[in-house]
Amino acid sequence: MQLTAPLDMHLHLRDGEMLTNIAKTSAQTFSGAIVMPNLVPPVSTKEEVVAYKTRIVDAIGDEKFTPYMTLFFKPNYDKAFLTSVRDEITAIKLYPAGITTNSEGGVSGFDVEELRPTLEAMSDLNIPLCVHGETNGFVMDREAEFVSIYERLATAFPKLKIIMEHITTKESVEALDQFENLYATITIHHLLITLDDVAGGMLKPHLFCKPIAKRPEDRSALLNVALQAHPKVMFGSDSAPHPQHAKEACGCAAGVFTAPIALQLLAELFENNNASIEKLEAFVSGNAQNIYGVNPINKIVTLEKKPFTVPSNYNGVVPMYADEEIAYSIKDVVTP
Ligand SMILES: [Zn+2]
Repeated sequence: MQLTAPLDMHLHLRDGEMLTNIAKTSAQTFSGAIVMPNLVPPVSTKEEVVAYKTRIVDAIGDEKFTPYMTLFFKPNYDKAFLTSVRDEITAIKLYPAGITTNSEGGVSGFDVEELRPTLEAMSDLNIPLCVHGETNGFVMDREAEFVSIYERLATAFPKLKIIMEHITTKESVEALDQFENLYATITIHHLLITLDDVAGGMLKPHLFCKPIAKRPEDRSALLNVALQAHPKVMFGSDSAPHPQHAKEACGCAAGVFTAPIALQLLAELFENNNASIEKLEAFVSGNAQNIYGVNPINKIVTLEKKPFTVPSNYNGVVPMYADEEIAYSIKDVVTP
């Protein structure tokens, strides 16, 4: 099985030692990725974007890989600033304040008039808005509650591309077809697990993430649009490494690390559901190219159906399915 130019449209590469330790796990198999800006402090100036990109390029070494950079949304970005930074970024990521790892400086109200100058400027400059869509309500209801905010934004800014990041609910899937300018990324873990896998038996810290995995009917809704490669959905791993001690702790950090096994798991998932390789390629590359207008590096990844035992850790980061066997292996990767 061959995949051409796989793209990960939602990735956390972190910074410093963690960046150095894990960047290649994405760069070896993906042509590029949308890199999230939630560092401490968040990436919010042109200088910070450029410097972060340089650190990423250093960390990936000889791998052929494009980091698509993002800024951390601030309601005070004006058109002059956005124009000056346009060429350095692919999108802007909006976090509700305090909702996930390093999101303390995010947006706390969703008053359309307050956000209008920045979102209109983004719309004019064709900068997509990526959104972590959760309220601060009950943990299982946060995403469904946020759908009304998506609707408000999509209606007020009809030309703005709004990406509902890492969707986990049937409500978000339904919203996709109701608004022309709403799109979504879906992770591999939310296609595979429900809350039962996280907390139904012994607690599994390495499957704990935000948004938390939901109900079987939610997973079915996600699977339905992913397997048919609905043109408005893209693969985005939300692979989010934390050191082992931060996951296996009293106060477990949110995030599932899937970057090194994402393509193998997708191959297995699509095969098990009788979905074609063409659909998989659209989900993991073609749709993102159409939605973002990106033209990725021509990387060809060959997967083979051969059991692969997932390592217990990658430089101190425990991946999903550590020490377990998965059905597909990466045979080789060529960049012609
Ligand atoms: Zn994320």
